Amino acid sequence: MNIIYKNKEKIFQENEKNGVYYLTYPLFEETKMVKHGFSTRLGGVSKGVCSTMNFSFSRGDREEDVRENFRRMSAALEVQEENIVFSNQTHTTNVRVVTEEDRGKGLIKPLDYDDVDGLVTNIPGICLTTFYADCVPLFFVDPVKRVIGLSHSGWRGTVGKIGKSTVEKMQEEYGSNPKDILAAIGPSICQDCYEVSEDVIEEFKKAFDGEQWRDLFYRKENGKYQLNLWKANEYVFLEAGIQKEHMAVSNVCTCCNDEVFFSHRASCGRRGNLAAFLTIR
Ligand SMILES: [Zn+2]
Repeated sequence: MNIIYKNKEKIFQENEKNGVYYLTYPLFEETKMVKHGFSTRLGGVSKGVCSTMNFSFSRGDREEDVRENFRRMSAALEVQEENIVFSNQTHTTNVRVVTEEDRGKGLIKPLDYDDVDGLVTNIPGICLTTFYADCVPLFFVDPVKRVIGLSHSGWRGTVGKIGKSTVEKMQEEYGSNPKDILAAIGPSICQDCYEVSEDVIEEFKKAFDGEQWRDLFYRKENGKYQLNLWKANEYVFLEAGIQKEHMAVSNVCTCCNDEVFFSHRASCGRRGNLAAFLTIR
């Protein structure tokens, strides 16, 4: 795996198991409470623009190849395929409380819910699974109440603060204290690669304090802006009550590293999906 890091901070561990390459966070490994991973495009069987480790059934890839990719990744992470539960992402801020009856939904059973961009659970063995190609993965682990969460935070999810919605769901449903929660921002598009138009920035100006703006975006001569989704989600974590020392903020860009990760921007939309996996042991 040849990953370009934006700084030297040691946030990710690079892993390889039976030819499957994925990232983990030492922050979460140290709890000994979870198994987790963020996929790369290395180690699967898909062809063409989905090569090789694609986790999307809806981007033109062969179903049997996607299923083989899930088999390989599940084996690498030592999770059971019948315990995998998918989100159904539509850039909302909706967070689903995943229960026993959801086991297998998305992979071995049909998904019977829509508009779910975040998942939380306290059930050991259930493997929360969310999908990416530049959008921001958010991971949450509460080692005190033994609760986990995963959310998909693109620019809409970030403006809507799905990270905060996820923490609130953990509080309401399981009594989590935000001060106990460990949280991570996963591989996704960096500010240098993420040009957006003024209408997007208008939404960020409404959602974030004026003093935060200079950390979040800057205007260029062409009238467009460069937007920092990593920093925005860090502010969302702080607003949700998560402690700075309990955070790992990504320094890996999917678009800068498009040979290792799927990037929507770098591929002009011709790409497969990466996935985040998180389960309580
Ligand atoms: Zn980049």
